[in-house]
Amino acid sequence: MRIYEFAKKHNIQTKDLLKILEEIGIKGKHTLSQITEIEINKLEEYFKKEKEEKVKKEVVLIGNENVNELSKKIKIPSSDILKFLLDEKIIVHLNQNLNKEQIQKICEKFNYIPIFQETKPQVIEKKIEKQQPIYIKRPPVVTVMGHVDHGKTTILDKIRNTKVAEREVGQITQKIGAYKVNLPEGSIVFLDTPGHEAFTAMRAMGAKITDIVVLVVAADEGVKPQTIEALNHAKSANVPIIVAVNKIDKPNANPEKVKQQLSEYGMIPEEWGGNTVYVNVSGLTGEGINDLLEMILLVGEMLDLKAIINCKCEGTVIESSIDRFRGPVISVIIENGILKVGDPFIVGTTWGKVRAIIDEWGKRLTEANPSTPVEILGAHEIAIPGEKLKVVDSEKEAREFSEKMRREKENVYIPVKRLSLKDLYEEIKKGEVKELNIILKTDFYNSIDAIKNIFSKIPQNEIKINIIHSGTGPISESDILLASASNGIVIGFKVPIEPKAKELAKKENIEVRTYELIYDIGEDIIKAIEGMLEPEIKEEMVGQALVKKVFKLDKNLVVAGCIVVSGKVVKNSKVKIIRNGKIIYNGVLTSLKRFKDSVNEVSYNNECGIGIDNFNNFEEGDIIQSFIEITVQRKLKGE
Ligand code: GDP
Repeated sequence: MRIYEFAKKHNIQTKDLLKILEEIGIKGKHTLSQITEIEINKLEEYFKKEKEEKVKKEVVLIGNENVNELSKKIKIPSSDILKFLLDEKIIVHLNQNLNKEQIQKICEKFNYIPIFQETKPQVIEKKIEKQQPIYIKRPPVVTVMGHVDHGKTTILDKIRNTKVAEREVGQITQKIGAYKVNLPEGSIVFLDTPGHEAFTAMRAMGAKITDIVVLVVAADEGVKPQTIEALNHAKSANVPIIVAVNKIDKPNANPEKVKQQLSEYGMIPEEWGGNTVYVNVSGLTGEGINDLLEMILLVGEMLDLKAIINCKCEGTVIESSIDRFRGPVISVIIENGILKVGDPFIVGTTWGKVRAIIDEWGKRLTEANPSTPVEILGAHEIAIPGEKLKVVDSEKEAREFSEKMRREKENVYIPVKRLSLKDLYEEIKKGEVKELNIILKTDFYNSIDAIKNIFSKIPQNEIKINIIHSGTGPISESDILLASASNGIVIGFKVPIEPKAKELAKKENIEVRTYELIYDIGEDIIKAIEGMLEPEIKEEMVGQALVKKVFKLDKNLVVAGCIVVSGKVVKNSKVKIIRNGKIIYNGVLTSLKRFKDSVNEVSYNNECGIGIDNFNNFEEGDIIQSFIEITVQRKLKGE
């Protein structure tokens, strides 16, 4: 038998047969050469073996591999696969996923039998669910609070400049909202914005990142109203407090007096049998700063603070701004998991992909661990302090989530439900409220005690009345924030509410009640607990006009030529006429004219003619206040 005849019989090309013959050691043959019996036996043995091998060449595949992946699994160069696909008129690139049919063809061509085994996502999910969280010890996060000028910033700067700079000599720290101090015994994270406003604003957002509060009190001035305010903010958050008695370098420093004063607020020093830690320091000289840090670490140790390391990273925004060159910059404290460059994330209603992670030294990091304050670049917009940052699986998921959040925010405005006296009864009945948190502001200190006394006489079997903060002076933004963070109400006795606080209360849906009579306060609370609080007609000032000229039109008809200096004045509204700071007349605005036309209202910065029922005695410089009546639940009385 000649070579070409044998090839034909075995359905193989002659040139391939010649190659096989060479392979098995039979050399020097050509198409017309004769083939011996022995050679035929050798060839058949070869074919048998190859057939056996073919059967063995099973490969387990998913069925959607790309050329690269398939090439690795069947050990055929990807260029050969691509060439074959091209012959089959299938044009793909290396990373393009193939379908099962294409994979089948490729396997047939290269003598493989594909066994498709689809991965079951449920199995993977289960695996993830079962993954046990791994906890690691984490440093405490500290906020410094206290009365203005008692040295909060000085202490923070001292710690930063000595303790932080000691480690990284020559480097300049950047303010990114927080910084980490690494000491031989452990690390501490300090939030850079001192004061209780930022702290409580975060709490009002639902964020609780502060583990320990350092309350700074100047040893020369002692306890001040804001010291107590800060103390109450910290107490209402249930955060351990360390008192730093500052300015002990001053000759008139009296640290013992501070202890005495604060003891009256339940902050009894350890040496007097209490459990409050006091540390004497000087932010100026640095004296005692090491003791303070040691105490923070000790308290932190007792709190046994832990973070989960093997989960998707999450953190809280502490600051956010737009940088002209870098775009939105978001400072976060990582709480759990590890943040890596490239991670897609959501934060508030925006999203992004971590483009850069920068620490307080301005150094770029590839990843950041829990309790690390870092700046992140790559968000599409800025975020609000207190908002959560969460890493998600993909940019697609981040974008979709953010769009959903945005739509929800735009379409349905659901005001946050807050406690109000009006609804108190219903909520007690539903068992939703067991405590009534009150922020109390009064004109004089004595009034606080008088009101507390009244509260103490109210039966508290259904609800416990907590005065979480009391003080003198106008109702401020900080009072509203505290109410917001602790789901409380604000009660003012003979005090005004600051305009900004009023705005914030409206935004945060916080109930503010002001009273002129002490007994009304107790009465309202009792009625609220019993569900008997009646609606009340209230007058709300809508605007003021200044009398510029007086026109005597008739013996009995005098009109004031005015300019509206705030809000608007409304026809038929009640009016008060103020002269030299005193109310000289209460009446009704019966005539309102703009040029010659009679109008219903005139707004800010417009001139008008005002006539008031039974009043002719206008003088230039008088202020006319216009009030409208609204029905409220005995709210803002006396305002
Ligand atoms: P903050 O308003 O609480 O942040 O107070 P600052 O840190 O701005 O300090 C107010 C003033 O007190 C500044 O003039 C500081 O220099 C001064 N000061 C702060 N700490 C000390 C201290 O320990 N000793 C003395 N003598 N002065 C201090």
